[in-house]
Amino acid sequence: MKLQQDFHIHTHCSCDSACAQIDDIVKGCQTAGMKHFGISDHLHTRFNMPDIEIARKEFLEYGPVPGFHFGLEITCATQWECEKIAKRDFASCFTCEVNGKKFQTMTPIDGIMYGGPANGPLLLDLTQEDVDRLGIEYVIGGVHKPNYTEQTIPSMIDDYFNQSCFLVKHELVDILAHPWEGLAFWSGYYIVTRDPADYHPEAFEQIPQEYWDELAHLLISNKKLAELNCCDICSPRFDGKIARFTLEKLAEWREKGVKFSFGSDLHRAAYPIEGETSIRQAEKVLTEYGFTEEDFALPSRLK
Ligand SMILES: [Zn+2]
Ligand SMILES: [Zn+2]
Repeated sequence: MKLQQDFHIHTHCSCDSACAQIDDIVKGCQTAGMKHFGISDHLHTRFNMPDIEIARKEFLEYGPVPGFHFGLEITCATQWECEKIAKRDFASCFTCEVNGKKFQTMTPIDGIMYGGPANGPLLLDLTQEDVDRLGIEYVIGGVHKPNYTEQTIPSMIDDYFNQSCFLVKHELVDILAHPWEGLAFWSGYYIVTRDPADYHPEAFEQIPQEYWDELAHLLISNKKLAELNCCDICSPRFDGKIARFTLEKLAEWREKGVKFSFGSDLHRAAYPIEGETSIRQAEKVLTEYGFTEEDFALPSRLK
């Protein structure tokens, strides 16, 4: 099978380590044969809105290219943190204790990671007015951190499931980004210990089948896409265990009728056509797991 779309690409405007220039993205996607592709920088909370505004300005300055779109990747945030961000009341969150260890940040660039009420109300810090003003053509929604829950395997599985359901049902979200990605990381306190024993890839096998089934049902009934993320399906980590598990479960979703988008989740400078964790490798593994061009669809606003 040949990939013809890539809706998950970060530019140097993104708040994280991403460093690609728009010209390299456009030329890379065209060389790879993408008919549709789009940039999608992070919006964890409104704190990152200036990044999206700069990305939009660069997108418009580059000028129209057939099949080139403007989107964003939104994080499932919480009402508690969005209120704090709005009031710029976050300095007290920069140093806190996490599982008996000191956790420090400099800014709420990734949202407010700790200190909120466990399992409190979820929120996307984006409005329809923002979408219209910034010409956002599609939104990828992803789980990127706990909802202040205990970081153990059972509670993180429930937390991920709850956040994923919220994202799929949200009217502004078109694509569920990288389902369950990061579960191994957040199912322990690796964030403060950096001890490999606190990283739990076995968490994936403990996700109840009913959670997979319910998410598939929600994706189909809400007409949302699930993302096949290049970094997950080509991951060499744990001897390829995470990649195989993701491909097996998403192939089950396909059999139930779920439709997909593809995302390279580019953070590097060069668009990865060949080699490890590349477009060609993704095409190879997707073919092995029975995916075809017909399994992919466009976000609803692009149809
Ligand atoms: Zn993500
Ligand atoms: Zn991303």
